[in-house]
Amino acid sequence: MNTDLLVTGSAGLVGHALRQLDPPDTAFITREHADLTDFGSTNTVFSLLRPRRVVHLAAVVGGLGGNMIHSGEYFRNNILLNLNVLEAARLAGVEKLISFMSTCVFPDRCQYPLNEAFLHHGPPHPSNFGYAYAKRMLEVQSAAYRNEWNSDYIVAIPTNIYGPNDNFSLTDGHVIPSLIHRCHQAMRRGEDLVIWGSGKPLREFVYSGDIARLALWLLDNYNEDQPIILSSGIEVSIMELAETITGIMGFKGRLVFDATKPDGQLRKPSDVSKLQRYLPDFEFTPLRKGLEQTVEWFLSSYPQVRGA
Ligand code: GDP
Repeated sequence: MNTDLLVTGSAGLVGHALRQLDPPDTAFITREHADLTDFGSTNTVFSLLRPRRVVHLAAVVGGLGGNMIHSGEYFRNNILLNLNVLEAARLAGVEKLISFMSTCVFPDRCQYPLNEAFLHHGPPHPSNFGYAYAKRMLEVQSAAYRNEWNSDYIVAIPTNIYGPNDNFSLTDGHVIPSLIHRCHQAMRRGEDLVIWGSGKPLREFVYSGDIARLALWLLDNYNEDQPIILSSGIEVSIMELAETITGIMGFKGRLVFDATKPDGQLRKPSDVSKLQRYLPDFEFTPLRKGLEQTVEWFLSSYPQVRGA
């Protein structure tokens, strides 16, 4: 069988958004179809489907909490996943592969805004070093394969992605799904809403549907060997984010900032000039609209959501 496109990790946030776009002749695989940490299993699925192109989304991810608790697991499983997927793709003759990392894998002490060229210029933040070093190896493996086998493997680097079908775990999730879930709980129980840290850190949030649209664009149009950052470049504080979420959900209680919980990096603004050069008119979903859609999805799916 020959498939035009294979999407790994398709049960996740961006995979879910890609399904909505319904690209033709596409196989969406999840961990039910293959254990990508196992080379035999990975190779079997690639040799059966023989995809022409691949969007590699599968990863073991978590928010700040998950990264601090599971550094070993995140390191090992991400290294294995990527090693196996890129190698199986090469053996199956895949023409083009896009894999995803995140701006959280950039050096902790880095020149801002973060530019694609700075990826390896220093150690990552200690809170996520296991995940970050594993993810950086995706870029190294892609470059090495390009060098030896001329493989057209490219790396996209989105900032903080959110949207429907996220992991809403209160301990391991990212800030947006965790706060939506915690706000829902606080409303049902008549409690305060607890927000980790000081509320001062700044992040660039990008809606999963936007990343899905950009992934399809990259497949057809991006031929550089260097990575590309995917973000609107708009920074929002955690405080402002929390106020927007509580406004949408109609939470009337108090917001309590828990200083015993970590802030992580204070900010990590990204350089979006490369993306803007290619797509000057790309319209990112405004944060409020993306949050409304995410909250709506959460409320209509609860408790059948990941992490609940
Ligand atoms: P990252 O720090 O960019 O990798 O992503 P996160 O989504 O884990 O956290 C972003 C920021 O949100 C950090 O400054 C956290 O301190 C803050 N934050 C506030 N409440 C929460 C929460 O419930 N969960 C998480 N993960 N972060 C939170």
